[in-house]
Amino acid sequence: MTHSFDALILGGGAAGLMCAIEAGKRGRRVAVLEHADRLGKKILISGGGRCNFTNLHCRIENFLSSNPHFAKSAVARYTPADFIALVEKHGIPYHEKTLGQLFCDRSSRDILAMLEAECHANGVTIFLNTRIREVQRTTDFILHAPNAEFRAPALVIATGGLSIPKMGATSFGYDLARQFGLSIRPPWPGLVPLTLAPEDCSRYCDLAGLSLEVIASCGHQRFREKMLITHRGLSGPAILQISSYWKKPQPILIDLALDHELTAAFRDPKTPRNLSSLRAELRKLLPHRFADRWLDFHSPASWTNQSLADFEKQAHAWAIFPAGTEGYEKAEVTAGGVNTDELSAKTMESRKVPGLFFIGEVIDVTGHLGGFNFQWAWASGAAAGRAL
Ligand SMILES: Cc1cc2nc3c(=O)[nH]c(=O)nc-3n(C[C@H](O)[C@H](O)[C@H](O)COP(=O)(O)OP(=O)(O)OC[C@H]3O[C@@H](n4cnc5c(N)ncnc54)[C@H](O)[C@@H]3O)c2cc1C
Repeated sequence: MTHSFDALILGGGAAGLMCAIEAGKRGRRVAVLEHADRLGKKILISGGGRCNFTNLHCRIENFLSSNPHFAKSAVARYTPADFIALVEKHGIPYHEKTLGQLFCDRSSRDILAMLEAECHANGVTIFLNTRIREVQRTTDFILHAPNAEFRAPALVIATGGLSIPKMGATSFGYDLARQFGLSIRPPWPGLVPLTLAPEDCSRYCDLAGLSLEVIASCGHQRFREKMLITHRGLSGPAILQISSYWKKPQPILIDLALDHELTAAFRDPKTPRNLSSLRAELRKLLPHRFADRWLDFHSPASWTNQSLADFEKQAHAWAIFPAGTEGYEKAEVTAGGVNTDELSAKTMESRKVPGLFFIGEVIDVTGHLGGFNFQWAWASGAAAGRAL
């Protein structure tokens, strides 16, 4: 059986559904083909079940890409205010948690139900459990599924990245891009916990569960947020953020003593220069168990001014050489992807293959933690949907 549409959208996640809604609004006959048994599974698990659906302070600096300007146009034409207006139209209660991050008051299900309702209202056809085995191009794109064939002059790839394979992530988008001669920036796991080398793990991992505010930096990037110690390494927002920029064997530098000069007290001759004074200073800033443990391995070589200066420097730039990351199993996003040079920044259409579009996480545009990945999915989906 052959189904014909104006456009086919492969992948019924955040980007695919937004694209379908925008195209449907313009009277296009569109179908979303999803291989899972339901739409938007990642939306449901996002934000701890409350979906951090956008961020009030969305700037181009919140996205990483080999072309830092690529996302500008789409992000300017579909803004957080546009998505908030949709959320309010559907009467979904939400709140700002921190740093401009907007979450549902009730559940991520509200966001998915809203997108499904908009699809329905705009005449979008949904095919679930639809596995595409092959894509051909004649004048139309022809997609072959085991029991059906789909045809359309436009094809949008919205199949996401490689993160969380058990939720149905596939390399389909990258494979298809290669099939049509588009280049890929090799993907890597982003927003992912880091694992420590055995020596560091034996020193700190038994403190799993402790969290502290730090500045984590790598190259020119720095994030001031919480760091969490885990059974295998480090996590928490500061580490997840910096992980997207980290490549082995680079170090990650951790500032443990934010806005403080730990050794200032020692300029006063009345302060005894010994470990217990130093421990007291460190304990003012850090959880006591972590302060004591860190000092076990980083106490000053002597009590000279130079040694204290070296200690101060270490506390503000503790160099960690992670063993690796927890990989795609735990990564919130996939960085890298379809090379942005291949696509129009305005419409997300391939420059080489007219009618072929890529949107969302499959593109080499990755958001910071805090609602930016959904904002990219909405914005890139809307950009393509308005061009179909
Ligand atoms: C645990 C977790 C929590 C997250 N929380 C947040 C958050 O709170 N805020 C935020 O901004 N971002 C969050 N993210 C990131 C965000 O979910 C993604 O960046 C976003 O969903 C990407 O949208 P997408 O439409 O490009 O891809 P996806 O949402 O991954 O959708 C892709 C769709 O394509 C389908 N598909 C894949 N291959 C095929 C195929 N071959 N044929 C047909 N269909 C296919 C998939 O089943 C899926 O439905 C989170 C991610 C994870 C893993």
